[in-house]
Amino acid sequence: MRFSDMPYIRPDKDLLEEQIAEQLELLQSTDFSTADGAFVALEKIFSGVQTAVSLCYIRHSINTEDAFYAAEQEYLDETMPELEQLQQTVYGALAACPCQKEFESKYGSLMFTNISIRLRSFSAELIPSMQEENKLTTAYEKLIASAQIPFEGEVLTLVQLGPYQQSTDPMMRKKAWLAAAGFYTEHRQELDDIYDGLVKLRTKMGRQMGYENYIPLGYDRMERNCYTKEDVQAFRQAIVDYVVPVADRLYRQQAERLHRPYPLSYADTTPRFLSGNPKPQGTAEDILAAGKKFYHELSPETSAFIDGMFENQLMDVLSRKGKAGGGYCTDIPDYHCPFIFANFNGTQGDVEVLTHEGGHAFAGYTARDIFPPENQSPTMESCEIHSMSMEFFAWPWAEAFFGPEADKYRYSHLMGAITFLPYGAMVDHFQHIVYEQPDLTPEKRHEKWAELTAIYMPWIKLDMPFWGEGRAWQRQSHIYGMPFYYIDYCLAQSVALQFWALMQEDRAAAWQRYYGLVRLAGTKTYRELVLSAGLTDPFRPEGLKAACAAATKWLDRQDVTRFQ
Ligand SMILES: [Zn+2]
Repeated sequence: MRFSDMPYIRPDKDLLEEQIAEQLELLQSTDFSTADGAFVALEKIFSGVQTAVSLCYIRHSINTEDAFYAAEQEYLDETMPELEQLQQTVYGALAACPCQKEFESKYGSLMFTNISIRLRSFSAELIPSMQEENKLTTAYEKLIASAQIPFEGEVLTLVQLGPYQQSTDPMMRKKAWLAAAGFYTEHRQELDDIYDGLVKLRTKMGRQMGYENYIPLGYDRMERNCYTKEDVQAFRQAIVDYVVPVADRLYRQQAERLHRPYPLSYADTTPRFLSGNPKPQGTAEDILAAGKKFYHELSPETSAFIDGMFENQLMDVLSRKGKAGGGYCTDIPDYHCPFIFANFNGTQGDVEVLTHEGGHAFAGYTARDIFPPENQSPTMESCEIHSMSMEFFAWPWAEAFFGPEADKYRYSHLMGAITFLPYGAMVDHFQHIVYEQPDLTPEKRHEKWAELTAIYMPWIKLDMPFWGEGRAWQRQSHIYGMPFYYIDYCLAQSVALQFWALMQEDRAAAWQRYYGLVRLAGTKTYRELVLSAGLTDPFRPEGLKAACAAATKWLDRQDVTRFQ
């Protein structure tokens, strides 16, 4: 079905309660086929709810000025915690039902592990705080989307300012970074207050669940099912040990190429080359067409997938005023399809969105008929393996996207993958500090960020307003909206780099191993998925070390003077 034809039906809480109660009783039957029938019916009910939530979220983010969906989004923000409570009730009943053994043998035990994590991450007591949390994160998103920044005779959103921040003209670039800093500085009080409110709220929630602080609850809410805070800490340390020195060397080379002083000012981190960053060829439509060609030629599976996406209008990728920022991919379960949202702005980011969000969408498409839906999608860090590896599978089609700048793109992409790891680990480290010490004042938090910058990004000079004041984290929406999510990108990137290294040796084998991992969908944990593809456990530093070494070798082999 085409996206525009999919009807939005507001979830009716009272009716849902009634329907669910009826099935819950049957779920307690000692007869498995009766209990299983009730389970299937319950899954159908929640699929309907999730469909409404997705449709509303997508239509609201496509046009935040649409009053109908803005109001519906507000209604769902209010109602979702209660609906979530209904879902929890079902999970509770499932975990305690007489036929649990039969359920486990039919649907696998991971689902029940995840259910127990979800059960311990929620309590009715948390509902008022969760409602408040939703309001605060929505306030942050609205504030960021509302930016109207006068610049060079135009009025721009933060997204639209992006290309100017990468300008080849150092003065123009600096001006753009200062313009963005101006917006954030103007709203500094609001940005501090929203975050402080969130930290206090989440700390209260953690304590309500019997923990010392928010972190154990935060991990449970991310559904960490195969690694601990200590594993993550060791992973971050491996990044400091093996990746930071490489990234630092790459930035020193960049400073030389740009004829800019090292350490770099924030404004000098963005163009990789004196001649600027690689630019996609042609219009947004041309980029879309190149994306279609890529998926058509990559494999029969991706070919069928992309045709469906175009036929059913399941992509909204052009930037417009009123559209929410960022990019995402979500599922519309009743219609068994994914949806891709993005904001094209004429940079290589557009291509990355197409390949990255396309990777998520392909995984959603591949798993669309797996029942129950709990088994369709793995935890977040594994979902990011789908997307970040797909970005690398697109390399041979770089010519279609970038024409003569294809090699420049490949260099820039790989360098970005390496240099992202320290930044992502820093975002994670920062959040651990914040939630371990919830009474830090906003000023103290900024100081901590500045201290971490020296460890994770030694190539940065803290010399600009806002950016240099230890406040650069405030532009990272995940820190507000999805605590502890960010390290998932790093955990995934370390695996994607292992896939990249494989591709350099044997593309066909790399694709088969990747497709095997995608097909396992949500039936395995992150660690199991990585091992299933024959890769190194990401929490052992050897994998990161080897992939990083291979990437460095490749980068060093490139004659970058060609790109100047
Ligand atoms: Zn992603």
